Amino acid sequence: MSKLKNPWGEGTAWKNDKAFFTYLRGCLRLAWKRHPTKLKVLKEKRKQIRNPNPKGNKPTVFGFECEMCHKEFVLKEAQVDHINPAGSLQCKGDIQGFVERLLWVTEEDLRLVCKGCNSALALADKTGVSYEEAIREKEAIEWLKINKGVKKQRDILEALGVVDAQSLKGKDIRKAYVEYLKSKQGNQ
Ligand SMILES: [Zn+2]
Repeated sequence: MSKLKNPWGEGTAWKNDKAFFTYLRGCLRLAWKRHPTKLKVLKEKRKQIRNPNPKGNKPTVFGFECEMCHKEFVLKEAQVDHINPAGSLQCKGDIQGFVERLLWVTEEDLRLVCKGCNSALALADKTGVSYEEAIREKEAIEWLKINKGVKKQRDILEALGVVDAQSLKGKDIRKAYVEYLKSKQGNQ
């Protein structure tokens, strides 16, 4: 076996390194999906919660409490999160660290979170901001979606007491809303 030759390229299943690492990440994610410690965390932390479906015929269903936002969710919202994120797998040098962070874990390395917190944690990790900041960013993005149109957004910001709200444009509208959320929560 040649140590210098890459596994991708002509005559192989992968056109290039990108394709190969996509394949490898897929394989390892599958290993994570069925990781017995992950499944154990899910099983041990689930509990009966009030059925959030008003039309449901059972008063309680299986759910869990998110370890980040401390709200209760139904089990299908559960994500087992690595406290120390697995990071990226883009080159040979990433393999060992990625596999270790992803699979070389005990229950203490994992936490059960809701999908919203999971994506906030991923955003925080990716952009280097805190979890609280990432939550505010996500909330602001959602706010922009619900309140479409610059005029409407400016009017709301003005009503919330944002100075010079009517002159805001582009990204500054989102930033102003993030700042508003921050002041509302008492500068976390
Ligand atoms: Zn949560």
